[in-house]
Amino acid sequence: MKLFRFGGPGQERLGVVRSDGSLGDASRTGFDLDAELIGKGPDALLAGLSGIAIPELDPHVRIGCCIANPSKIVCVGLNYKRHVLESGNQMPIEPALFLKAPSSLSGPNDDVIIPKNSTKTDYEVEFCVVIGRRAKYIDQESAMDYVFGYCLHNDYSEREFQLERGGQWVKGKSCDTFAPLGPFLVTKDEVPDPHALQLTLKVNGETRQDASTSDLIFNIPFLVSYVSQFMTLMPGDVISTGTPSGVGLGFKPPKYLRPGDVVEVGISGLGKQTQRLVAYEAMAAHS
Ligand code: ZN
Repeated sequence: MKLFRFGGPGQERLGVVRSDGSLGDASRTGFDLDAELIGKGPDALLAGLSGIAIPELDPHVRIGCCIANPSKIVCVGLNYKRHVLESGNQMPIEPALFLKAPSSLSGPNDDVIIPKNSTKTDYEVEFCVVIGRRAKYIDQESAMDYVFGYCLHNDYSEREFQLERGGQWVKGKSCDTFAPLGPFLVTKDEVPDPHALQLTLKVNGETRQDASTSDLIFNIPFLVSYVSQFMTLMPGDVISTGTPSGVGLGFKPPKYLRPGDVVEVGISGLGKQTQRLVAYEAMAAHS
């Protein structure tokens, strides 16, 4: 199943891609794509969907963040070799982990706000794993049993806040709108090999990132097991598995984002996102 959430910000309802590929309104199930529903598993969802009408939606409906209120977003830094090199880091012996504030989540095609006093806003296409069952101290062999599905994330990053302001990366990762997630939460059964997906990112039509999840340094079962050694993973939690090379930081001179820029992101089988960058001031004037 390809699941999504549609409607105005804060008013999203459950949608499902219908057998003909069109977007369907599944709000009559009374479900939302939250920890409770994800924790029940795909079978409960299928049971809820059976026998109810799934009307076709306007294809231009706003799509929201594909998970409602996950307890955490765990990100892996430096998980593609060429990205490690372009960012001037040593090859990791263990995964670098950081958290991203859930308040940074937004819809896949919502405008992205360049934060106040930012000059180094950057993009990162990433493949995400969505946890389906409470996971604590699990081993690699059983790790995939704890995965509900997958989704697409553009891990926006403010490089000055992240790298030049001291302390941890979280400061450059958690600004409002810095985590467009979706459009779809795709159940695990629809992705036979999560280590053979193509990731792409374009800025104003120019390809900047183009890689495969086959290039991951630490693979999916390893990462799910690894994170669970340090914290309990809950249904709906997101593990964002890191970005390949081609980020703005990696160019000489760097190519950071400016108001008016358009960023297009995609992963094979998981859908596409398009974001327009807007200045913080411009947004403040509307609120
Ligand atoms: Zn990242």
